[in-house]
Amino acid sequence: MEKPILIREDGLRHDGRKPNELRPIKMDVGVLKNADGSAYVEYGGTKVIAAVYGPREVYPRHLALPDRALIRCRYHMAPFSTSDRKSPAPSRREIELSKVIREALESLVFSELYPRTTIDVFIEVLQADGGTRTTGLTAASLALADAGIPMRDLVAGVAVGKVDGVLVLDIDEVEDEYGEADMPIGYAAGIDEIVLLQLNGVLTVEEFREALNLAKWGAEQIYKTMKETLHKKYLKALEE
Ligand code: ADP
Repeated sequence: MEKPILIREDGLRHDGRKPNELRPIKMDVGVLKNADGSAYVEYGGTKVIAAVYGPREVYPRHLALPDRALIRCRYHMAPFSTSDRKSPAPSRREIELSKVIREALESLVFSELYPRTTIDVFIEVLQADGGTRTTGLTAASLALADAGIPMRDLVAGVAVGKVDGVLVLDIDEVEDEYGEADMPIGYAAGIDEIVLLQLNGVLTVEEFREALNLAKWGAEQIYKTMKETLHKKYLKALEE
């Protein structure tokens, strides 16, 4: 396909968003009955569900850690999540994303409270339209909170991209494919810590600084929505 126009003459993006505008975001927690914690998150056309089990006994047992919980994470794209058929076998990309998301979560969970147990995090991408790792990280963080697992903070994921020379917030698949750079981050706004940062493509030092500020600003909006979503759940539980 020929490269589409990513920044229109009026300065707006191919889908009509302003450069610093997020896609419409939806989220909910407690969406799966069998999991200890769960969450559903949408960033525009990207739809992800996360389930958390644990802390629970580790199988196989030899994997248990004496001083903390073992955190495992599986990021997976459902075979029906893209228009081209995706192989159901775990790809190199899925293995990498499972690792970076796990590391981001490990830095926030108080795993030392639950030695010899495991906390399993499953992220299932139902529909992919760019930013599945960042949407997945947000969903995983909400699912951990929903499971009542103590954490230093929540984390919100969002990616900034450079398209037609302009830095834009929360890129979708078209912007990811045809843009010049893509920088996903995970930001724990309450403690002001970046727990995930990747960069694909090239940015100048000045652009990097600007991109990081834009990403943190976007992540803060998402973080607020995450808190509201969790609040709503507890208010609902009080009414019942
Ligand atoms: P992220 O989803 O975190 O942005 P990538 O930059 O690797 O991760 O992927 C960008 C987008 O490309 C995905 O969100 C998805 O829409 C699409 N994509 C990724 N892998 C596949 C695949 N195997 N088949 C079809 N589309 C894919």
